[in-house]
Order: sequence, then structure tokens, then C-alpha cells
Amino acid sequence: MTGRQNGKRALFLDRDGVVNEEICYLSQPEQVRFVSGIFDLCRKAQALGYRLIIVTNQAGIARGYYTEEDFHALMQWMRAEFAREGVALDQYYFCPHHPEHGVGAYRKECPDRKPNPGMLLRAAGEFDLDLAQCIFVGDRCSDMAAGRAASVGTLVLVERVEPGTCTQPEDFLRVCGLQAVLGLLQ
Ligand SMILES: [Mg+2]
Ligand SMILES: [Zn+2]
Repeated sequence: MTGRQNGKRALFLDRDGVVNEEICYLSQPEQVRFVSGIFDLCRKAQALGYRLIIVTNQAGIARGYYTEEDFHALMQWMRAEFAREGVALDQYYFCPHHPEHGVGAYRKECPDRKPNPGMLLRAAGEFDLDLAQCIFVGDRCSDMAAGRAASVGTLVLVERVEPGTCTQPEDFLRVCGLQAVLGLLQ
């Protein structure tokens, strides 16, 4: 049983720290450095029938550091970069809210903001995904918590230089780089 015949699997990717190297409040293409191995990982996942979906908290929008338009422009640029590498990104979901630091209407508790599972659940509905067959690669405990809350079958934490301690069950895999995720795809 691979589940492949269903075609209802997704590789969920956190953006900052997984797709691109994390810098504070990234908003411009010139600032983007793609994480080593991201295109190989996406090409293989795509070939195996996984949907490729980015799920990203964007507190920089909440804080007023950049706008939703800036964010979408950057994502369009990223889509084009992925396409140049032979990868068709299926969708991205973002949460522009922050419960404490949001400006105006952006200040709110949002079911989409990780560790909440809103974006994953929405994607599951829109792409008819079997979440138990999905993989979520993140670089923060809040990513793992969101995946857990959505019952994503395989959770992978890409470790930072400073290992984080999650105050949650270790029901996820820890890897040092995206190359290690390739082996999980089948
Ligand atoms: Mg991240
Ligand atoms: Zn939100």
C-alpha cells in the first residue's frame, strides 16, 4: 500500500527556513537564497504524485513591515523560479495575522496561524488530500504542532544550527538537511 494510486498526497513545506534560508522578514526576491536540496526534493515528490503546497506564517504583514501585495509578488517570483527548475508549485497558504503584534485588523488570533492547523485543513479540503498520507517539512516546533493538530501522517523537523527543544511529544523526525527527506518519499 503506497497510497500512490489515490493521488491525494501532498508534501507540505514551511517557507522560511525550508524553501528559502530564513532571514528576518524576507520580502524581496534579491533576499532569497533557496535552501540546498529544495528543488531535488520537490522534483522527486512531484514525480511521485505529491501536491506541493507551502504553508507560511507571515507576521511581517501583521507588523506592517511589508504588504500582502509584496508577499504575493514574492511568491509569484518564487513560482517562476520553481518552474525554471521543473517544479510546478500547486498552492501556497499564508497567515498575515499576529495575536499581539498585528496592526489594526491584522491583530487577531487566527485559526490559520501555526501552531494552529487551519492552513493544512483548508488545503486538505481544496485538494481532497488524505492527510495521513501527507508529509509536512518545517523548521519550528510550531510547524510540528500544526501538523500534529491536522493529523498529517509524517512530520519532519529540519534542525537549525541551534537545536530547538519542543515542549511536545517527539512524534516527528529530525533531519539535518533536505537531502534526508528524499528517502522518505516513496
Ligand atoms: Mg520556518
Ligand atoms: Zn490568519
